[in-house]
Amino acid sequence: MPQPATSPLESRPSKGTINLVHLYPREMSIYGDLGNTRCLAARIARHGYTANVIGHHPGSVLAQDAHLVVGGGGQDSGQARVEDDLFANADRLRALAADGVPMMMICGTYQLFGNAFVTVEGKRLPGLGILDVTTQGNAKRMIGPSVLDTEFGTIVGYENHSGSTSLGAGQAAFGAVRHGFGNNGEDGTGGARTGNVFGHYLHGPVLPANPAFADALIGYAAELATGRAFEPEPQDDTVADEARTRQIRRLIR
Ligand code: GLN
Repeated sequence: MPQPATSPLESRPSKGTINLVHLYPREMSIYGDLGNTRCLAARIARHGYTANVIGHHPGSVLAQDAHLVVGGGGQDSGQARVEDDLFANADRLRALAADGVPMMMICGTYQLFGNAFVTVEGKRLPGLGILDVTTQGNAKRMIGPSVLDTEFGTIVGYENHSGSTSLGAGQAAFGAVRHGFGNNGEDGTGGARTGNVFGHYLHGPVLPANPAFADALIGYAAELATGRAFEPEPQDDTVADEARTRQIRRLIR
């Protein structure tokens, strides 16, 4: 029987399995955030590794051997719905963060990885404190395209948040705002980074448009998963690079 054609990569043995945990895909995944999980899974495979995607839902046990963790945005009500589960898993998430597991938290989950989010109605939702940031909800929302200069290049996304986030004294930002509001529309900081934990306000989804950032996360995860240096394969990112470059040119003159 003729065998179905396989790409050279598919016919090679996997370089290793990366466990990718998506926190709260039902409650905290808006404005295209699910695309980040799909992008990571697809790129992990194109780099010759195997992606094991695990959706973590409130009330379930957090995967013990997570190599990469992502969380997205949500309404204030969604954030309130995941609070108990987040605290049930707080020690584990803090330990993973301390062990260098890469994490990318967007908007509502970014706020909950900080010290606290106080809603516009004054309700205080405590956070995990993995990032030293604090967020205050406002009546006016910060909405629109956003561009940040980061160590992974100039990154584009779309933000929609009422929360103004302030960084603690020693907290590093993820990037510098070139366009849009970033953390608060005032101090020019965008997101936060501690170790391999990244928080920011970029929806879009952000990773398909910014493959260098996606591959950085995959690289950290591959090293943890295999105990060896990341062995990337060449990728054709022509379309993403062109879309990002056009967006940057359109917004920044
Ligand atoms: N509820 C939060 C805010 O508006 C988070 C919004 C979001 O995740 N998009 O600040």
